[in-house]
Amino acid sequence: MTLPLPKFTWPRSDAAAQEILGWAIDEFGSGLAICTSFQASGSVILDMAARLVGGDINVFSIDTGRLHEETYQLISQIRRRYGIVIELVPPDADELGSMLTLHGPNLFYESPAKRKLCCEIRKVRPLQRRLATLDAWVTGLRRDQDGGRERTEPVAIDEEHGGIVKLAPLAGWSNEQVFAYARERDVPLHPLYAQGYPSIGCQPCTRKVEAGEDSRAGRWWWEKDVDKECGMHLGMRGQMRREVDVLLDEVLPARRPFAVK
Ligand code: SF4
Repeated sequence: MTLPLPKFTWPRSDAAAQEILGWAIDEFGSGLAICTSFQASGSVILDMAARLVGGDINVFSIDTGRLHEETYQLISQIRRRYGIVIELVPPDADELGSMLTLHGPNLFYESPAKRKLCCEIRKVRPLQRRLATLDAWVTGLRRDQDGGRERTEPVAIDEEHGGIVKLAPLAGWSNEQVFAYARERDVPLHPLYAQGYPSIGCQPCTRKVEAGEDSRAGRWWWEKDVDKECGMHLGMRGQMRREVDVLLDEVLPARRPFAVK
């Protein structure tokens, strides 16, 4: 289905990251939010936003409940540094409770479908609920990241989320540019970078990478031949989508087509 394009003037195609962010803040106002998982790109975007509008911007993060303690410490540090409110979006308590009761707390190690189910309950569905209240969201996605992000556009229509606008102001930046910006401006960075974690997610699902491995090799490292995605940015398709839907129907009885009310 082709969604109607929102009515606005798009920024120049060669606009700098700060320009794109400033344009989005002016264009969408309170209908805009920055979504961050506190990796380096997200921290750089928060720094840019704070320089543009101080703490006067919506910022949220999906709090899966299984994040590293270091991530929670970084959240406190960023709140103090920039004076911004960071909304933490949790999973729905009933959905989470049902999944944990049916499959146990560490279901993600049992099969790719159960791992994707956990990501769906703890990340994807909370994100969908939050995005349903917005006109536009800002992410830290970049084309040079592994995991099928090579076609990331700085500004795009997000068809996965109802046709709102999805921004990736750092789409064309390299990892080196991100860290150079952070160094120059003393941006708070996640302490696990210094311990060999190039990509940081939930604590039970992230490990350090070895020399020569790609940057997302430490995410769900026990899985082989499964895409290294949680579904927040790239929706599931095909057989995996069907397997996860079966599990979701067990966890969320109200989803069943003929559920008894
Ligand atoms: S990364 Fe791991 S713990 Fe976090 S939501 Fe996904 S499967 Fe669950």
